[in-house]
Amino acid sequence: MATIHDISNTLHQLEVTYSQLSWVAYTTGFDQGVNEAYEAIVKHLENKAHYDTILKALEGEVTPKEKRELMLLKKEFQPFHQSEAVNALQLKISKKQNELMQVINTHRSVLNGREISSVEIQQILTTEEDREKRKAAYMAYNQINEPLYEAGFLDLINMRKELASLNGFKDFVDYKLDECELEPTLFDSWREELNELLPEIKKNREDMAKKYLKDTVIYPWDEAYVLSKIAPTLNTPTNMTHFYTHLVNFFDKFGIDLTSYNITYDVFPRTNKSEWGYNFPIETGKDSRILANVKDKYNEYNVLLHETGHGIHSFLLSPDDIMLNRGVSGIISEGIANLFQGFITDKLFYDDLLSQEGIEEEFHGLKAYNRLNRFRDIFRILFDQEFYRSELTSLHDIYGMYWRIYKELFDEEPFMDTPPWAYIIHFTSHPIYLHNYFMGDVTCAMLKKVFKKRYGVKNVADNPKAFGEFLKDEVISPSGRYPYGELFERISGEKFRLSFLLES
Ligand SMILES: [Zn+2]
Repeated sequence: MATIHDISNTLHQLEVTYSQLSWVAYTTGFDQGVNEAYEAIVKHLENKAHYDTILKALEGEVTPKEKRELMLLKKEFQPFHQSEAVNALQLKISKKQNELMQVINTHRSVLNGREISSVEIQQILTTEEDREKRKAAYMAYNQINEPLYEAGFLDLINMRKELASLNGFKDFVDYKLDECELEPTLFDSWREELNELLPEIKKNREDMAKKYLKDTVIYPWDEAYVLSKIAPTLNTPTNMTHFYTHLVNFFDKFGIDLTSYNITYDVFPRTNKSEWGYNFPIETGKDSRILANVKDKYNEYNVLLHETGHGIHSFLLSPDDIMLNRGVSGIISEGIANLFQGFITDKLFYDDLLSQEGIEEEFHGLKAYNRLNRFRDIFRILFDQEFYRSELTSLHDIYGMYWRIYKELFDEEPFMDTPPWAYIIHFTSHPIYLHNYFMGDVTCAMLKKVFKKRYGVKNVADNPKAFGEFLKDEVISPSGRYPYGELFERISGEKFRLSFLLES
């Protein structure tokens, strides 16, 4: 009979293979057997003898650490011991999801009769003075809506709905929250909290629109432009071929030696390569890979810092804690990534890259604006959830849903017929995941607050070495050990609340 150790290790190896194949698919468009690799995982997970071994081990005498490990392993197997129908459905979902991701990854938008990359669209959105040209570039994002819908996006949504129902959950949102050890009531107060902040958010946006757009409204095609007007330094031409040296120097300040980690970077755009940014956590503490698309602007360090944050997180975990590492919350993982990304506006990072006058004032203004404006992220989080709570039968219905949520959250009317949405890959690849970024930011705000108090410093940057140690000891090392809510309370002594964001 296989031991717990064998069962866990085999699952781990199968997942490593799957992750390697996904990396190939996302970086080249080559499918070298992603579906077969997932089938092998399912075959392992539906093994009744393995599941019984886990259940039996849980009944025996175990330490709290072993109990946590077994519970996490059980969580992986349990969904595959409901019924044959559930298992078949899981396979179908995975297959459909991979098929749709191939559609997204190999799609290229066209602008003025020419193929255009996402990094080029982003550059138009940040620097183009002509508003109509920015609008045209933004609207190029919506060219993937129809192909994704035609390829069966709503079939995927419906299968996920069915999966949740077969597993006895009210809806797919609750199903995913349970999977991540989060309360189903987590988002209940968010609409109200946003609503309370809305007058101030609107006022800020109106001020910025008047100042930079000679208008009263910031449209989606103005968002990045306004940010770059507040902090033009973000667009500083930067030779991105030297990115690695800068990252190494930066992380060294935290006592983190990037060169000692096996992190692979694939950072320049290419045909058939996904146009966004990812970290593929191939094997914790052993092999981490970063996909990005950069060209030649300072702000492109955003993605490199974020994804490298994921890579570092992986290497600060113990590769031997295979079972425990399953318990690391997506919020902690995105929180750590966002934390390092946030240093893009900190002297600690930009010191050897930028030398303009007035940088500090620019970045101060940027942070002040983002402090409230980022609450608008709640829109895409709730829009994602609404796919599983609405009856949808056409692309038209999806647009209707978009504007319904928009109106409910921002009290604003539709301003176009076919808003881009499908280019946000998470709806397809990572459903009910977007809250991890936002809650990750809340976690960062909390961590900085706790650190500053404990070390009596005004800024994290005043003592980066100590902050690096603090992150390792307080957050990363125990991150697999406790569910997110518990970890948050252990560190801060307080319950999770969005308002931490307003205190930083
Ligand atoms: Zn991330």
